[in-house]
Amino acid sequence: MSLQIAFDNSYARLPDRFFARLAPEPVAAPALIRLNDALAAELGLDPAALRAEEGVAILAGNSTPQGAEPLAQAYAGHQFGGFVPQLGDGRAHLIGEVIDRQGRRRDIQLKGSGRTPFSRAGDGRAWVGPVLREYLVSEAMNALGVPTTRALAAVTTGEWVFREDRMPGAVLARVASSHIRVGTFQFFAVRQDIDGVRALMEHTIARHYPEADGPLGLIRAVVAVQARLAARWMAIGFVHGVMNTDNTHIAGETIDYGPCAFMDSYHPETVFSSIDQFGRYAYANQPQIAVWNLAQFATCLLPLIDADQDAAVEAATAAVHEFSDHYTAAWLDEFRAKIGLATAEPADRDLIEGLLARMARHGADFTRTFRGLADGTARDEFDDPADFDSWAQHWQARLAREGRDIAAAQPGIAAVNPAFIPRNHQVEAAIGAAVTGDYTPFHRLCDVLARPFEDQPRHADLQAPPRPEEAVRQTFCGT
Ligand code: AMP
Ligand code: MG
Repeated sequence: MSLQIAFDNSYARLPDRFFARLAPEPVAAPALIRLNDALAAELGLDPAALRAEEGVAILAGNSTPQGAEPLAQAYAGHQFGGFVPQLGDGRAHLIGEVIDRQGRRRDIQLKGSGRTPFSRAGDGRAWVGPVLREYLVSEAMNALGVPTTRALAAVTTGEWVFREDRMPGAVLARVASSHIRVGTFQFFAVRQDIDGVRALMEHTIARHYPEADGPLGLIRAVVAVQARLAARWMAIGFVHGVMNTDNTHIAGETIDYGPCAFMDSYHPETVFSSIDQFGRYAYANQPQIAVWNLAQFATCLLPLIDADQDAAVEAATAAVHEFSDHYTAAWLDEFRAKIGLATAEPADRDLIEGLLARMARHGADFTRTFRGLADGTARDEFDDPADFDSWAQHWQARLAREGRDIAAAQPGIAAVNPAFIPRNHQVEAAIGAAVTGDYTPFHRLCDVLARPFEDQPRHADLQAPPRPEEAVRQTFCGT
């Protein structure tokens, strides 16, 4: 069976300075680890053909399919607050774009696919650890209903990659609505390439926000999706870890799963990333950082907003400040649903924060506490269950004002609070096994995390928080 992919590559039609055209570098011995059959079908690709030798060669970058126009995208970015004028795809190739079964434009990109003009000192490769981490976590996010880039496939290369140790190499095939980042706009803005910014803006509006009216409309739309994304992360206890502007997706998808992690026990100051020394990207800071990143985005568009710079700054600032209302509304929606509320009362924020404060005090497990509201086990997560009980009295009284008791609220609570998240120690264990050639734990996690809201009694062990000796306190970009 032959693989026909109906590419329609809009990014490749942008001016030459937007990218470098080049094909991925072939690898020694590609072998499929996992193919996302459901996603392949969404894209109109035949899973059987992708599993065959020709398909795996494409997924590894050894063969360029008909109609593909491989390229590495140029971008810049603020990394931990410091500006880097040129980053770009140093180990990724956009293969092309397809229109999926629902008419949506989707990028197919390979990551770990070899050196490009943007590689700097890097080798252009990835090892199996970050590839499987991104596969697992991005697919779990999708199943949790979080906007995200997707994983189409992971392959091993049959080559070694040299990091602290010698590691098996791998390539991830990633799918996204685009790979346009705040940093893509910064690349042109810092070069005072106004035509470049305008061309990118027009492309972005046509592709993601057809209803947006010019630069201010675009800023408003991006602000709204980023506010909802941040609220969604907060509601599932997700810490992105590298919220740099080059990792801020213009259509509000979660992108770049380097040192990300889900919290086990709740604390607002939780940080995992080994390179985040000062806790810039701690859990509780994420909304403020999103605003900071959006301000950088708005700055890029100033020359297109108004010839009068003061007027442009004023209008852009007002648009960025809309974040706060969007975020507050989204956060309240998320957390009201998490505790089973169907209506809104002004004191709800205090009620929710009362629970979170108690959780932080007792180091309660974030996921198990909220899920436990649905089956009466939440109090078990507290060192002193009486502290939970005193909160639960207010909660019960609040539910009573909706004419419901806890039992009536429980199905709704279970529908929005996952039983399963990709716990860091399990992700690490799956990667550890994969390095020895055993992909069973990885496949099991993928399968369980595809249905995170279902009780899966056979996999109850995956709901357990780490034992003290299992807890992962630091994560690494591990590129
Ligand atoms: P990230 O930390 O994944 O957001 O990447 C930051 C920048 O470093 C991007 O420009 C990447 O393309 C580049 N980069 C990361 N790892 C490598 C690598 N192994 N080879 C070449 N470039 C890389
Ligand atoms: Mg990145």
